[in-house]
Amino acid sequence: MVQPYKHEPFTNFKIEENNKAFQAALNDVANDLGKKYPLIINGEKVFTDEVITSVNPANKEEVIGTVSKANKDLAEQAMQAADKTFQTWRKTKAEVRANILFRAAAIVRRRKHYFSALLVKEAGKPWNEADADTAEAIDFMEYYARQMLKLKDGMPVESRPIEHNAFNYIPLGVGVIISPWNFPFAIMAGMTTAALVSGNTVLLKPASTTPVIAAKFIEVLEEAGMPAGVVNFIPGSGAEVGDYLVDHPRTRFISFTGSRDVGIRIYERAAKVHEGQIWLKRVIAEMGGKDTIVVDKEADLELAAQSIVASAFGFSGQKCSACSRAVIVEDVYDQVLNRAIELTKEKTIGEPTDLNNFMGPVIDQAAFDKVMSYVEIGKEEGKIVTGGEGDNSKGFFIQPTIIADVDENARVMKEEIFGPVVAFCKAKDFNHAIEIANNTDYGLTGAVISNNIEHIEQAREDFHVGNLYFNRGCTGAIVGYQPFGGFNMSGTDSKAGGPDYLVLHLQGKTTSETL
Ligand code: GLU
Repeated sequence: MVQPYKHEPFTNFKIEENNKAFQAALNDVANDLGKKYPLIINGEKVFTDEVITSVNPANKEEVIGTVSKANKDLAEQAMQAADKTFQTWRKTKAEVRANILFRAAAIVRRRKHYFSALLVKEAGKPWNEADADTAEAIDFMEYYARQMLKLKDGMPVESRPIEHNAFNYIPLGVGVIISPWNFPFAIMAGMTTAALVSGNTVLLKPASTTPVIAAKFIEVLEEAGMPAGVVNFIPGSGAEVGDYLVDHPRTRFISFTGSRDVGIRIYERAAKVHEGQIWLKRVIAEMGGKDTIVVDKEADLELAAQSIVASAFGFSGQKCSACSRAVIVEDVYDQVLNRAIELTKEKTIGEPTDLNNFMGPVIDQAAFDKVMSYVEIGKEEGKIVTGGEGDNSKGFFIQPTIIADVDENARVMKEEIFGPVVAFCKAKDFNHAIEIANNTDYGLTGAVISNNIEHIEQAREDFHVGNLYFNRGCTGAIVGYQPFGGFNMSGTDSKAGGPDYLVLHLQGKTTSETL
């Protein structure tokens, strides 16, 4: 009997025992640094001469590991393996597929701190953010396994005395999974296991900045009993391997999480029908956000400032859910801004292996340059009231930065920055605040801090985002509790960790038997 789903609790690092266990895990990860990881094609390890070197963003000199790198030929081999394996995997019972996820979740739970410690090193996550990433990876597996068990017999349809009708879900085929570096464990594992538990076979191309955690996860799946050829692991360049597989006539669907530019590129390329292709490809895309916290004049202003700071600067703002705009009704603007500045100044940044640091680095030099260029734009468009400095001498560190008094149409109010930078903007009243919040191409997350029930109900209808939160921050959706995904340029309106997510990886088949 499967227990009801409950999300994985977060670790309290104030408890000495947990703190020690995490320190020990950091040591274990340190001992594993610099190892070599293979591609996995049809269950075989393939080591290549050309490799992807994963480095610690807090210390550019430190190599996390070197991961083999696929090219077109190897991607083609992986495709053939996945295509062939699909013929057996699609017939494997849903229970058997779900059991692999349950086992994999249990394995990760047992080695939880090891995975989180690896995230600290490879992605520069502070302890609590790394712990949440691992917990979410476990949640995705636990949740999707149960969802598959619910879907395995299809949906009820009517029958008549002379006919027996059924409506069942069958898998699609080979899925290409292109996963992001910002939740390098949770989102990578979630996208992969959703596809495979639904009966599809997978080609996994993880983000090139965080391939080691993905390599470790493949080991977990193998240990959990996943047959050869079901998930093929092919890190590589987007321009070479990514494009090749997106264009491939045997690719049935593409599941992507990452930037808007890459998402649009994939969507466009996937629309083209290539020679030998007998279907229209499906694309599941989760892209960016320009997420807003709206503060009403009747509101808990301390909660407002705390929520803005936590949502803007958690994991250095590198979440597509991060608060990058605080839109505050003018009566309380100064008060919230001043308190947010105070709170931001208390935050320490530095080496994420040190539990005392609230914020670590951004992911790489390109991210550093991009964020710093927006800080410059912010100086023109508003006033930097705290932060604004970066230091990339050892790692890619940027201070948490508030840009105040920004016009609603400023670039820093419109473009995704994906770093520890938040713009503050004044609204005339609540209606105006909602108008500003909707004035973006995206529609991912948002929050409203208000004690006015009418305003809350108004926002529920008019604030056009996929994840809307009241009287809290706008990050930290929990699998199975707050299905996650946005509208407009935030993606294809899918909801990861939600009750209809697996259906995106399936197709409905009606059978009608005359009796
Ligand atoms: N699901 C995460 C959250 O709610 C964000 C995911 C992302 O950044 O892609 O904060």
